[in-house]
Parts: sequence; structure tokens; C-alpha cells
Amino acid sequence: MAHDQSDALNRRGLLFILSSPSGAGKTTISRMLLTADEQIKLSVSATTRPKRPGEIDGVDYHFVTREKFDEMIEKDEFYEWAEVFGHRYGTPKGYIRQGLKEGQDFLFDIDWQGTQQLKQKDDQDVVTVFILPPSLDELRHRLETRAQDSEDVIDRRMDRARGEISHWAEYDYVVVNDDVDHCFVKVREILHAERMKRTRQTGLIPFVRELMA
Ligand code: 5GP
Repeated sequence: MAHDQSDALNRRGLLFILSSPSGAGKTTISRMLLTADEQIKLSVSATTRPKRPGEIDGVDYHFVTREKFDEMIEKDEFYEWAEVFGHRYGTPKGYIRQGLKEGQDFLFDIDWQGTQQLKQKDDQDVVTVFILPPSLDELRHRLETRAQDSEDVIDRRMDRARGEISHWAEYDYVVVNDDVDHCFVKVREILHAERMKRTRQTGLIPFVRELMA
């Protein structure tokens, strides 16, 4: 594991939220971050949308039926949930609360609605980053080359992208993804800096404690 000074400190975990319109590169950046940094784990959402080629149940999402999702709402098992493109997406509470206390960081790939709900529930641990595409033309081009969706779905995603982007000012940080490697470095720097915030340190390293005694 890469040395990180925050290992020496006793700190609470972070809820690190990455949002962007679909196609702006958030999923790629998330994967890069998870590979590069062992201290952060993906919060796997539950969804009622069908699996896309290459997606794995329990890794990309927990793919559940609408009935099961509604049962989870009834049992208050979500931190937050939202309806996107006619499908439901939600963050199961499960292990997250305990993990935070133990200093575990969680990465969230969720939209602005989920971000607002999480911020309302836990403003202290939440850090929000919005990833912008360099332009709307470039976003459309990326959605088309991804070629997993029909023209009709791409039009809907572009409409939704405009709506999603209109919420950028509600985020703590904004990063433009004109180059995926540069964007990744910037996102990682934000994570590192946030970990070192004094207000997140719940304990003191022994020599500091001695100095204070
Ligand atoms: P996709 O179907 O492309 O994987 O995701 C569609 C949208 O749903 C994305 O904007 C994604 O961020 C959002 N999303 C995924 N999981 C969650 C979740 O647990 N809660 C909320 N509110 N949005 C989510």
C-alpha cells in the first residue's frame, strides 16, 4: 500500500462522491481510483435497470427486481435512492455506517439527486466532485462511440446531461475531463487533500498528544 500520512492519524472515513452526466468519464475515473488506492472502496448501488454487457452483479451494481427494490425502501435499507431513466437506483446502508467509523473511505458514482440526499444526511463526511465534459458536442460524440445505446436513448441522455450539468454549482469541486489521465490526477489530489483535513482527525498521533498534555 502506498504510504499515506493519514495512516498515522485516527480519522473518520469519507463519502467521496463523483457525479457527472453519463459519458463524461466518471466510471473510468472511478475504476482508476479504485485500482490506485486501496483505502477507498466502491459503494455498490442497487438498481432495477438491466445489466449492460460486461457488467457483473455485485461488482458494478446489485441488480434487483422492482419488487425487491420497493421492499428495500419499505424496510428503510437505503441511505438514498432516486429514479433515473425510468429505473431505480439506491445506496444500501449496510456496511457503510460501520466502515466510516473505522476510517474506511467509500466512493460513490451517483447523480445530483443522490448527492443532495447524502449531503443532507451526512454533510460532515461527504466530499463532492463534479466531472464536466469539455463540451456538449464532445459528450455526444463519446456517447455515440460507446455504442451501447440507441439514438433515442442517446437523445434522452443528452437532455438529462443538460439537467445534470445545471447542478454543478452545488458541488465542492469541479474537474473538466479533457484528458482522462489528467482528470484522474486531479481527482486523486482532491481525495488526498481531503483526507488530511484537520477536522477529520478524530484522534492525535502519540507525540502530539504528549505535547498537548
Ligand atoms: P447508469 O445506468 O449509466 O449506470 O447510471 C445512470 C445514473 O444513475 C448515473 O447518473 C448514476 O450516477 C446514477 N446512479 C447510480 N447509482 C445511483 C445511486 O445509488 N443513487 C443515485 N441517486 N443515483 C445513482
